[in-house]
Amino acid sequence: MAQDYTAGPVAALRRIAFLMERGREETRRVEAFRKAAAVILPLDPDDVAAKAAAGTLTDLAGIGPSTGAVITEAVRGEEPERLARLEKQYAGPLAPGGREVRAALRGDCHSHSDWSDGGSPIEEMAMTAMELGHDYLVLTDHSPRLRVANGLSVERLERQLGVVEAVNDHLGGAFTLLKGIEVDILDDGALDQTDEMLARLDVRVASVHSKLRMDAAPMTRRMLGAVANPFTNVLGHCTGRRVEGNRGTRPQSEFDARAVFEACVEHDVAVEINSRPERRDPPTRLLELARDTGCLFSIDSDAHAPGQLDMLDYGCERAQEAGIDPDRIVNTWGRDRLLAWADPSGR
Ligand SMILES: [Zn+2]
Ligand SMILES: [Zn+2]
Repeated sequence: MAQDYTAGPVAALRRIAFLMERGREETRRVEAFRKAAAVILPLDPDDVAAKAAAGTLTDLAGIGPSTGAVITEAVRGEEPERLARLEKQYAGPLAPGGREVRAALRGDCHSHSDWSDGGSPIEEMAMTAMELGHDYLVLTDHSPRLRVANGLSVERLERQLGVVEAVNDHLGGAFTLLKGIEVDILDDGALDQTDEMLARLDVRVASVHSKLRMDAAPMTRRMLGAVANPFTNVLGHCTGRRVEGNRGTRPQSEFDARAVFEACVEHDVAVEINSRPERRDPPTRLLELARDTGCLFSIDSDAHAPGQLDMLDYGCERAQEAGIDPDRIVNTWGRDRLLAWADPSGR
């Protein structure tokens, strides 16, 4: 017997997509469910119900047999079978540890939308972050030079800031989508966006994405340059390593970690604990070095899809294992404290 289900077909499709992303299924496989939700969202629920009853849902562009079955079960008031299966398979914490740190988090400082290399629109990322109980989410799409990830030019970033404001107008209330960027650290340590645009953002994550195999001396200079930049708030995935996943593995970059972490303390830059399981960055030895050096941290999802926002569990487990005091984690802070800390005029 199917369970009663009253949330309707759009919620069912969104929840299925969320659970698949959270379970690390490829965005491509999840797309059909997100697309189907977008197709029926603007339709009259009575029309959807009539089509379901007549078995003609698949006449709609973007609805196939699997998504059609989910919609049909949901409009009948039954929990869709696929949803029930995924809830059983994927619900519950992603990592066994880190529950106290996870409970202390108020938001997330690193996320991507389909404006760069993410899979979902800005509003879907914001809505999901809100549903997860976050007070804020920083939208950090890539900077211009990262062309493979469709990095944002000055003009596109400018337009995106308008969209962020519009999303906040709609969501209102306790949740805020914050303006941000994941800005590339160029070979010479400069940041890949104009000072004028960087100044208009709330939080800036700076990361190395190219020439990861540079010699240690120039890589150290490069990272020190970025950390000393008054616009840098968070040093993203500092070693660039990849420990697993279908894109292959990659060794960590070589640099003088002690010098870089000391500079982070001096310039009030947080070291990111990147929660993505294929990154686990920084490695444990460096995480402990940053802890002992006195760094601040930001536990980030680096989500490229809404369900990946929940990957914070992995980073929290590592932070708790390393014994990091939650008050040294900037995203345990309330929004106003975070904004005051990140404001370059106060640096
Ligand atoms: Zn990155
Ligand atoms: Zn990122």
